Amino acid sequence: MTRLVLASANAGKLRELTRLLSGLEFELHPQMEFNVPQVEETGTTFVENAIIKARNAAQHSGYMSLADDSGIEVDALNGAPGVYSARFAGKNASDDDNNALLIEKMASVPERQRIARYRAVIVLMRHAADPSPVICEGSWQGVIQLSPAGSGGFGYDPYFYLPELGCTSAELGADDKNRLSHRGKALQQLKDRLRRGL
Ligand code: IMP
Repeated sequence: MTRLVLASANAGKLRELTRLLSGLEFELHPQMEFNVPQVEETGTTFVENAIIKARNAAQHSGYMSLADDSGIEVDALNGAPGVYSARFAGKNASDDDNNALLIEKMASVPERQRIARYRAVIVLMRHAADPSPVICEGSWQGVIQLSPAGSGGFGYDPYFYLPELGCTSAELGADDKNRLSHRGKALQQLKDRLRRGL
């Protein structure tokens, strides 16, 4: 088995990835097992931030490492909040704070211009100095609606309307969301890549 370190303390992400890797020759370990310190996400792109986190984990653990980064881009806001999605309304903003700010900014924008995209990037670094990290990406397009619907998911989901499904991503079951989402697509790419060999 090849050891793979996950650059995250999120138990949900660890579970999700462990399930994805079942049947493959990789075993996943959270970075806290190796006392990897947190690193500041100073990048301005999802790819940069994922590389910063994966490199930090590889450097401190000595093993191959994986990191992800995700967020939402709103076309009418020139791609904002983007990499700042979790901190759109400030450093310790809650999902409600971020959603309130987004809706305030969208209030005067006509519906057809409220197009948005979730993005997810997963990066694998074979070692800290890996010059060609494996980069997997997924996106999911929708429209920002002005009132919330649904109680599933997290973050911007109650406002992320999917015209082809006639509901928001917060109204989807977890299995459907995982199959369709930006993260689901990036994870599938990662699985295909690991199967083929690095
Ligand atoms: P991170 O990738 O854990 O840093 O999260 C980035 C932020 O993007 C989250 O805190 C959410 O605000 C937003 N985000 C990313 N993926 C989703 C999603 O599937 N649903 C809702 N919000 C999301």
